[in-house]
Amino acid sequence: MSIHDEVTRRRTFAIISHPDAGKTTLTERLLLFGNLIRSAGTVKGKKTGKYATSDWMEIEKQRGISVTSSVMNFPYNDYQVNILDTPGHEDFSEDTYRTLTAVDSVVMIIDATKGIEAQTIKLFKVCRMRGIPIFTFINKLDREGKEPFELMEEIEQVLDIETYPMNWPAGMGKRFLGIFDRYGEQFIKYNGNEEETVIPYAELDSPDYREMTEHASFSTAQEELELLDEAGDDFSREAVLKGKQTPVFFGSALAPFGVQTFFDTFVSMAPAPTPRKSTEGVVSPDNPDFSGFIFKIQANMNPAHRDRVAFLRVCSGKFERGMTVKLARTGKTIKLAQTQQFVASSRDTVEEAFAGDIIGVYDPNAYRIGDTLIEGKGDFEYAELPQFPPELFKKVTAKNVMKSKQFKKGIDQLVQEGAIQLFKHFRSESYILGAVGELQYDVFKYRMKNEYNVEVMLESIGERIPRWLTADKVDESLFDERNLLVRDREDNYLVLFKNEFSLRWFKDNHPDVELIDLFEVN
Ligand code: GDP
Repeated sequence: MSIHDEVTRRRTFAIISHPDAGKTTLTERLLLFGNLIRSAGTVKGKKTGKYATSDWMEIEKQRGISVTSSVMNFPYNDYQVNILDTPGHEDFSEDTYRTLTAVDSVVMIIDATKGIEAQTIKLFKVCRMRGIPIFTFINKLDREGKEPFELMEEIEQVLDIETYPMNWPAGMGKRFLGIFDRYGEQFIKYNGNEEETVIPYAELDSPDYREMTEHASFSTAQEELELLDEAGDDFSREAVLKGKQTPVFFGSALAPFGVQTFFDTFVSMAPAPTPRKSTEGVVSPDNPDFSGFIFKIQANMNPAHRDRVAFLRVCSGKFERGMTVKLARTGKTIKLAQTQQFVASSRDTVEEAFAGDIIGVYDPNAYRIGDTLIEGKGDFEYAELPQFPPELFKKVTAKNVMKSKQFKKGIDQLVQEGAIQLFKHFRSESYILGAVGELQYDVFKYRMKNEYNVEVMLESIGERIPRWLTADKVDESLFDERNLLVRDREDNYLVLFKNEFSLRWFKDNHPDVELIDLFEVN
């Protein structure tokens, strides 16, 4: 197969959702399609400690996260599927956001009983910033949830994106009859078990289905469908690919119901890897020279083998194990001999990979997040990964003041690596760390002790809202502990606002001070 054919059949995506919306359950269904697991409940094992046998890292063990479940790949029909995990809960970190820089599309799961939740909004914003196409799966239709129109409206208003329902449910919970597949022009009947009956629209008049079609939920759904046809947005593949419209699918990951139709439609509509911007213009995924960038580095917590794995997204050409590449930042060449592919249950050596694939490369402490690796004579770097606004801030000091040299060195390296963000108090210069999730602090503390032999003390200053200042000159008297003025690594000033209220108060009283929200999308 040519490089072009290999690239065209790749679908690299992440599933985003708020905890408990059904990400694990849906992922597991997809892995079943890919024959990666044999029975439902295998992936769930991670919560009951099944993955705890991994010796990969201590914290990973304690938390039941597994590097092996970070990327799952399998062939499906004519496609090659790569699913990237986006950890949630207490495992939420900047890596969760960075993962979204390595995908070509996203599946957003919404719990029909809850609607849009906080973590979904955060992850959605990153997709929106990057123009990533988003496919929506509204889950748990087997339970009583919000009305479908209410859910559509919520998506449109809260997330500010057009919706196009690919299917439409007739009833839900106990009254759930099935879904009208608008795309395939057929009704998919829910039988209360895994068996789905597919009925072309033309055959719905048959007396066999009278009991169902005479049901009030059925006629209500038909009326709603007519309304959608008349007043709803038209489907636009172009708008979908630009991330301006989201195709919406209703179903149940657990039943399972509507999952196969969803996935078949998804893989056919979702984009293959597209050209990426670099310092030397756009690089096509078909370009025969291998290139890629590193979006995540996972340090080994085991002091006995302090190796690290860098996650690399292949952007062009063909990767072959043992090939020599150039690290664009330094110009040094590196042989990629120890490489891994991540499959649900094991880490296999990867021999070759194409644009869209994710490989793990052994990191001899040489890489940084955002690094570009290239083959041949090329000399370019992919666009820098964006900085994501941290939310949890803590003051950090060394327990033992005599260790300030190692303390500074450790922080310096961990910050460079992208493990955590560093700020300095505008006057005292004391260190303040910023993270997206608590996990980053656990990892930070652990690595400071094990790699730099420094015990650190962390004092929380709570959740804060960071806003960058644009002006070079700053009137320091405007700020205090509530609206804390700090500087970032590039010496830009930013304010850590105590809460929404103090942010609003500040804006009202100092309308002339320009504040920048890194998450704001124009
Ligand atoms: P995650 O936190 O997003 O990975 O969510 P899980 O997949 O672990 O699901 C959270 C809970 O919701 C579990 O108890 C699942 O069994 C349940 N769940 C997931 N999908 C469905 C569904 O379609 N219907 C119902 N009734 N429950 C579901």
